[in-house]
Amino acid sequence: MRKFQIAIIGGGVIGSAIARELSKYFLDIIVFEKGSDVASSTSKANSGVIHSGINSPPKSLKARFCVEGNRIFHQLAKELSVPIKWTGKYVIAKNEEEEKELVKLKDIGIKNKVMGLRLIETDEVNFNEPNIKCKSALWVPSAGITLPYQLTIALAENSVMNGVKFLLETIVIDIKKNNNYFEIKTNKGIFKSDFIINAAGLNCIDIVKMLEEPDFRVYPCRGEYLVLDKKYAFLIKSLIYQIPQEKFGFLGVHITPTVDGNILLGPTSEYIAEINDTRTTKQKINILLKEAKEIIPIIKDKAVINAYSGIRCKIYPPEYDGISDFRIENSRVNPGLINLLGIESPGLTAAPAIAKEVVKIISKNIVLSKKTKFVSKYDKYIKFSDMTNERKSKMINKNASWGRIICRCENVTEAEVINALSNPLGAKTLSSIKYRCRAGMGRCQGGFCTQHIVRIMGEEFNLDITKINLKSNKSNLFIGKTRV
Ligand SMILES: Cc1cc2nc3c(=O)[nH]c(=O)nc-3n(C[C@H](O)[C@H](O)[C@H](O)COP(=O)(O)OP(=O)(O)OC[C@H]3O[C@@H](n4cnc5c(N)ncnc54)[C@H](O)[C@@H]3O)c2cc1C
Repeated sequence: MRKFQIAIIGGGVIGSAIARELSKYFLDIIVFEKGSDVASSTSKANSGVIHSGINSPPKSLKARFCVEGNRIFHQLAKELSVPIKWTGKYVIAKNEEEEKELVKLKDIGIKNKVMGLRLIETDEVNFNEPNIKCKSALWVPSAGITLPYQLTIALAENSVMNGVKFLLETIVIDIKKNNNYFEIKTNKGIFKSDFIINAAGLNCIDIVKMLEEPDFRVYPCRGEYLVLDKKYAFLIKSLIYQIPQEKFGFLGVHITPTVDGNILLGPTSEYIAEINDTRTTKQKINILLKEAKEIIPIIKDKAVINAYSGIRCKIYPPEYDGISDFRIENSRVNPGLINLLGIESPGLTAAPAIAKEVVKIISKNIVLSKKTKFVSKYDKYIKFSDMTNERKSKMINKNASWGRIICRCENVTEAEVINALSNPLGAKTLSSIKYRCRAGMGRCQGGFCTQHIVRIMGEEFNLDITKINLKSNKSNLFIGKTRV
């Protein structure tokens, strides 16, 4: 039975950010992730927005960690070579009633110390965003966008470089508390740990139940999105938000550019019964298109190339009218169990600040000693399509696989696919490759590149291609051979 000082349950953005922050200290750390890769749940299915902090109630943990997280992202994205664009955001008002809400929003932002907020007229909005229809807007310059899954991958893989052990496809089944350590039962064996960090997202309540009676419930709330073809990237440059619809506890359908050039319409907000119910529905697709057309009238239905959904981990019921804040606490019943509960939006933005808070909690219980040789830089996934022509030729001369295009839509080369397959976490599904190098993410959604990736997996990595999965061991690509 191997013993660790810290066991983190969940390899989403929260668990991975905590793993990286703790890897700055001399600690023996393990992360258990039930998926075949990190970012296999909510952390890959969100808007990818680095929020400014204008939407969270002053003095809440959400406000504090959002504003601090936003600030940390400036340095973090550079260290991890994660793409980030500080696009800024317009919250638009469609009528006088909504204009009053803009003023309230600005006041909240000022209380939360969000800088540069300005109420502006239509002319100024349209000077920068000619396709938007609105009466006036609040300009929020500190908002931005990133690639949430790439961020999570970089946080996790950089942690591995700094000594953290990640176990994928490892589900925590049960936990017992002995006198001064926890005994964690998984499908891959039993582990001991002094601390447990419960970063299991929507499953956070299941982890708590393994040790004590929870004093909260999880209310899953689905958000559906539509993805527009990159051809329509010209429609907007900044984030376009509507006035938050407080009674639904979400920010309203917004129009979000992504770092890769696709535009997202969404998310919707719908309380659902099952935490895994990530379906997308015709009804919501129609609502999203209708609402988006009210803001950008020239959007066409044929611009939509895909749909997906993500599930918010809410711990307050829909009718609750208090502050639905994050809960980050060392359990009173079982000290050493550090619970991260209700980490819904702006959890992605807040992740690096939440990670620092967890370090603070741990440092109250043990003496932490900082490593002098922490490796903060991480730049494994260089993109061929981002290189200058000169660099491209150099790379091809060094290694011909840089010259073989595997994914035509996204211009991804064989060398990038091989690099993605050699990831330090050992993730080997088609999705893992897609999220590391973008092969399969373009308009044809893998129609062309899948066969080539499968070949590379067989030839270069000696994998049994009949066992290749799309996302997990429940989504195998092949059911057997048609010819022997
Ligand atoms: C529709 C939507 C839009 C959003 N937009 C934004 C945004 O634009 N900006 C922003 O800042 N935030 C946004 N958020 C919030 C943000 O996505 C979340 O706060 C964040 O991803 C939560 O990360 P997490 O690590 O807590 O959860 P998750 O990503 O769900 O990670 C938890 C992990 O734990 C694993 N796990 C669970 N149980 C076990 C077990 N027993 N054993 C092992 N592993 C286990 C799961 O497999 C999962 O990978 C949005 C959320 C949604 C749903």
